[in-house]
Amino acid sequence: MDVTIDQDGCVGAGQCVLAAPGVFDQRDFDGVAFILKEPDPDQHDATRDAALHCPAQAIQLLE
Ligand code: SF4
Repeated sequence: MDVTIDQDGCVGAGQCVLAAPGVFDQRDFDGVAFILKEPDPDQHDATRDAALHCPAQAIQLLE
């Protein structure tokens, strides 16, 4: 699974970090999300959940 975030589209809502805290984190100064690490297989469901619930649809998954 390959994960990317459109950082210009991210509104810093933090849903991705809540859904998959091992995969996503947010910058301290503006809340924009970034990838901590590509998800391990046991994190794929949580990563899909994060993409599904991102209010800005800023997370793209390539499976
Ligand atoms: S859920 Fe979407 S909008 Fe919210 S921080 Fe994550 S990437 Fe950004």
